[in-house]
Amino acid sequence: MRPTSSRVAVLHLFHEFPHEHMTADQVFRRVPPETEQCSLASVYRALAQLLDAGLITSAWIGEQRVVYELNRGTRHSHLVCSDCGTICDIDDNALESQHAAIAAAREFRYASASLVIFGRCAQCEASLDSAVRRAGAPHGVDRRA
Ligand SMILES: [Zn+2]
Ligand SMILES: [Zn+2]
Repeated sequence: MRPTSSRVAVLHLFHEFPHEHMTADQVFRRVPPETEQCSLASVYRALAQLLDAGLITSAWIGEQRVVYELNRGTRHSHLVCSDCGTICDIDDNALESQHAAIAAAREFRYASASLVIFGRCAQCEASLDSAVRRAGAPHGVDRRA
């Protein structure tokens, strides 16, 4: 059996996990080892080709992190937890039309937007709360409440 090309293997991975966001490094670690010329450089090349072909999309999610995901045909923004790195898709048509309106108001033809909202997810917020409680609330806080 001929080994699969890295492009095919990478695309297959995105189809297998159609709702996951993966960095190039995560893609590289999940591509089957029998893939032809399996290296981080070939994964980057494959990602660039798949982006060009419109089969996947990429998003900047803060610092030096870029994630890739299957192009599901709808534009969306991202909500990122700055503690654990969880990424949520925001499919909000009102937001999309607002981007277009902002562009149109300045006589730009709208092409795309890259919006990332940072925050702390419910799980991280809950574990932070219990950590604070374990450590004992700061003086005065309890009495004022
Ligand atoms: Zn979190
Ligand atoms: Zn996404």
